[in-house]
Amino acid sequence: MSEELLSVNNLKKYFSTGAGTVHAVDDISFSINKKETLGLVGESGCGKSTTGRTVIRLIEPTAGEIIYNNKNIADLNKRELRQTRREMQIIFQDPYSSLDPRKSIGDTIGKPLQIHKFGTKKEIEDKVDELMEKVGLSPDIYNKYPHELDGGRRQRVGIARALSLNPNFIVCDEPVSALDVSIQAQILNLLEELQHDMDLTFLFIAHDLSVIKHISTRIAVMYLGKIVEIAPKNALFKNPVHPYTKALLSAVPIPKLNRRHDRIILEGAVPSPINPPSGCSFHPRCKEMMPICKEIDPAETMVGEDHRVNCHLVSEK
Ligand code: SF4
Repeated sequence: MSEELLSVNNLKKYFSTGAGTVHAVDDISFSINKKETLGLVGESGCGKSTTGRTVIRLIEPTAGEIIYNNKNIADLNKRELRQTRREMQIIFQDPYSSLDPRKSIGDTIGKPLQIHKFGTKKEIEDKVDELMEKVGLSPDIYNKYPHELDGGRRQRVGIARALSLNPNFIVCDEPVSALDVSIQAQILNLLEELQHDMDLTFLFIAHDLSVIKHISTRIAVMYLGKIVEIAPKNALFKNPVHPYTKALLSAVPIPKLNRRHDRIILEGAVPSPINPPSGCSFHPRCKEMMPICKEIDPAETMVGEDHRVNCHLVSEK
């Protein structure tokens, strides 16, 4: 049986702004098993990146539990958090802005090792060489600077830096979205190889369902701060239940046939997370909306093995 590494329960992250309170992450729960990849998908602004940053406490949660290896990391003090952070890393979307332009590639990858007092200067250099080889970077670029590299190699530097402290869990926050399509597959394949070799567990955030489909074991669909459907990958693609998931999937091309399903066009923009709609927050855009949808937020309903949906269409049945 698969062993759970991370369990997130009733997590909330609200931000206060002059215009009101942003419900960026609004009471979500999910778990991730060791060595699996949970894909987190949704339109931009739905709270995916805030979720990723909150579960590793790069930003502080407003409420909820984040149980990692049986510890609630939401409760850890600074020293305990620093220890646990070694095991929890993040790869950012834009490798250029996440790298310090004044630091050489060798220094960038070695920085976490220096901070955590990994060893002598020589031991750190040797470890950096090893990490560069692992992610497919030539040793020739050790003394180069980020602006001298293309996007694919910069992302490999970001990956090497994330691996430097030998983590168990990595939040991959749109790691291929800023890359050319030809480079995306190389980076995805690299992440899969590393996962296999190093027994890594991923929370993989993307807005592109083709990317999510390629890499995920299970998929969670987010809309306006909430998870509306979560299921094993094949179950979600074969039998999407939530109207929002159906609309997202309808835009994915069918391989080989080079055509699309009947596309469901989502009308209207994502509503503001400052004043989310009442009841089911998807109701203003949902073609299957019923009177109850405006009044009551749908509860979680199991519709198959490990397949959970929040929609009155299924809870009413
Ligand atoms: Fe649509 Fe109602 Fe289901 Fe929300 S609860 S997705 S509005 S049918």
